[in-house]
Amino acid sequence: MENWDTLKSEKDESRLLAGMIDEADAVVVGIGAGMSAADGFTYTGKRFTENFPDFIGKYKWFDMLQASLFDFPTRTEYWAFQSRFVELNYLDQPAGDGYIALRKMIEDKDYHVITTNADNAFYAADYDMDKVFYYQGEYALWQCSAFCHQQTYRHDDQIREMVRVQKDMEIPPELIPRCPECDAPMEINKRTAEKGMVEDAAFEADREQYEAFLEAHKSGKVLYLEIGVGYTTPQYIKHPFWRMTRQNKDALYVPMNQKTYRIPEAVRPQTVALTGDIRENILNAHKTLTYKG
Ligand SMILES: [Zn+2]
Repeated sequence: MENWDTLKSEKDESRLLAGMIDEADAVVVGIGAGMSAADGFTYTGKRFTENFPDFIGKYKWFDMLQASLFDFPTRTEYWAFQSRFVELNYLDQPAGDGYIALRKMIEDKDYHVITTNADNAFYAADYDMDKVFYYQGEYALWQCSAFCHQQTYRHDDQIREMVRVQKDMEIPPELIPRCPECDAPMEINKRTAEKGMVEDAAFEADREQYEAFLEAHKSGKVLYLEIGVGYTTPQYIKHPFWRMTRQNKDALYVPMNQKTYRIPEAVRPQTVALTGDIRENILNAHKTLTYKG
């Protein structure tokens, strides 16, 4: 750890973040739901209640997460909800300031991103999408619900049509998208514990690129920057970040989260946990780096 000079003097979290990014040879960024929430793309509050009052009235949901995992009784209702959800969280999602500032901080470095989010935040904030690996699917993509073949599909116009013509929380049955191979209904491309997820050639190519990046940066000052990652699916970002940090004595593990999670003893000496507001820390760190030139 003697390699990270930044850590010696800096106590302010945003300056510390700026210093660590500046000093790193490579940055592996893991992004979870907390990052989008910090940028205002929350699953609760007005964003939820104003867009789904009818569904909330019927099912008494607490938030959009619960809603998105709901087992709908019919496909017409499933797509009435999903089409509105996809429009809100993908098709019409604006660029977030935090995402933009983060991009500007890392874009001149060697970096790669893995995310368990499925929203449009990286596209909207103009990331180089060759460097972003969506591990859990994307809301705009569809898969065959029977998993008959490994291909995803995207038809934004049909989503918008479903939003426009739905009535009483149902789309007309003829708008239910069907698999071109087996005629089973389509569903959103999304990983579940029971079925996994359809992973097509584009997904495989993204996975290979991410893994090649990790392989190329197994030594040196690698920053594993984990932003807004909770404990729902630790096997995708958190646990691999711990493991890779342990395997490289010059690596740093930096989780940004207001909630703190138990970090294994072996990783703690290489951990700098930032518990302040995610968005504030990123925006201020970006300012620090800009002044520094
Ligand atoms: Zn099929």
